[in-house]
Amino acid sequence: MRARSDTQWLAKPRRLPEDGGVTAPSPPAPGASYAIPTIAALADQCVQCGLCLPTCPTYALEPLETESPRGRIALAKAWDTGLAAPTEAGERHFDHCLSCGRCEAVCPAGVEYDAILTRAREQQRERRGPGGRQRIAETLAARPGLRRRLFAVYRRLWPWLPAGLRLVPRPHPEPPRPHRPEPPSRPAADGLTPIAVFTGCFAEQYEAPARVALTRLLRALGMRASFDETSLCCGALHAHAGDLDRARELQGAVIGAFQYDDIVLCLATGCHDALRENLGDRVVDALTFLAERADALRFAPGAERIALHLPCTQRNVANSDGALRSLLARVPDLEVVELDAGFGCCGAAGTQMLNDPERAARFRQPLLDQLAGSGATRLLSANIGCRLHLANGTEIPVQHPLEFLAERLR
Ligand code: SF4
Ligand code: SF4
Repeated sequence: MRARSDTQWLAKPRRLPEDGGVTAPSPPAPGASYAIPTIAALADQCVQCGLCLPTCPTYALEPLETESPRGRIALAKAWDTGLAAPTEAGERHFDHCLSCGRCEAVCPAGVEYDAILTRAREQQRERRGPGGRQRIAETLAARPGLRRRLFAVYRRLWPWLPAGLRLVPRPHPEPPRPHRPEPPSRPAADGLTPIAVFTGCFAEQYEAPARVALTRLLRALGMRASFDETSLCCGALHAHAGDLDRARELQGAVIGAFQYDDIVLCLATGCHDALRENLGDRVVDALTFLAERADALRFAPGAERIALHLPCTQRNVANSDGALRSLLARVPDLEVVELDAGFGCCGAAGTQMLNDPERAARFRQPLLDQLAGSGATRLLSANIGCRLHLANGTEIPVQHPLEFLAERLR
């Protein structure tokens, strides 16, 4: 797990005495001010060793200092201290950052790159505002009713849309609404132990098969998945685009919705970081949770070759890549081909696949070439953004790993 201490100013934990010591974070008070380290203070941790450069996908694509983490840190500091004025080229280099977390994961000095990036993007937003597509994505993430109506229309129109307007794949037909029939504290009518699951915003439209799969897998462990019915947004999409006020609001709703749950499973690796910052150690990656109880799961044999994509957020934030590998190793006769085109990122990067689809496709293409040559029958990826981005470029089915595991469950 990355060291992310400074970003916890988004929400502070509190004790609830009436719950006998249950720890729950409280929503941040409106107008609350926390001690936030400046960009310059965070940037001063960088000793400019350059060890992060070989891990950076944008530096691999364009080997320029300004496309590297070290260059972006220096740029953010120069902007923040007034040493340099923002330029169009500088803004573009910052826009190119994929927020993949690779640099932070390898930094020996513990530089909190993500905190620097978030803060610098907040300043960028003040200077020039968000783009049109970013604004739409943020609105839809935060407004489930509007999102449901628009995705229903998008699904109907999809067969007639030109390729340029098919920014994301066709949503599933009328996905079952996530449900949470009773509070998790109440004993379940079916006798199974209820486990809270964070559904996520766009996941509501696209993760229905993954939710069904998780329900099956948990049932095999004597548990019942309990989904949040409002499909709350974790706020990561807003925070990474510099709208920290909106991110705090959304995170306050998440904190309230899950305040009494001891465990909250997270299906989307891209939401993991924001959830952990607000709900703490109660957030567990669904694959990690299953891997820890895998002795109770039995999988049916069947020769098949599958391709595996390990999203940046899975490797660098949720750290559930090992759990996924161990679960797949339990499936008899399965051959797994891990895709790695050297860039380390598929290019989806939150909303970058919407804001700059051509550049995102440049990162994706080597992975698609590997996939095409792998002979795999399907591709698995645990991040909803990566999955949508990859699925938009291939006819080979792209699934959440949970779907495959549930399919093979005996
Ligand atoms: S961010 Fe870390 S790894 Fe990269 S140059 Fe600075 S100190 Fe070195
Ligand atoms: S977050 Fe990823 S893309 Fe951005 S600077 Fe770090 S390694 Fe490069």
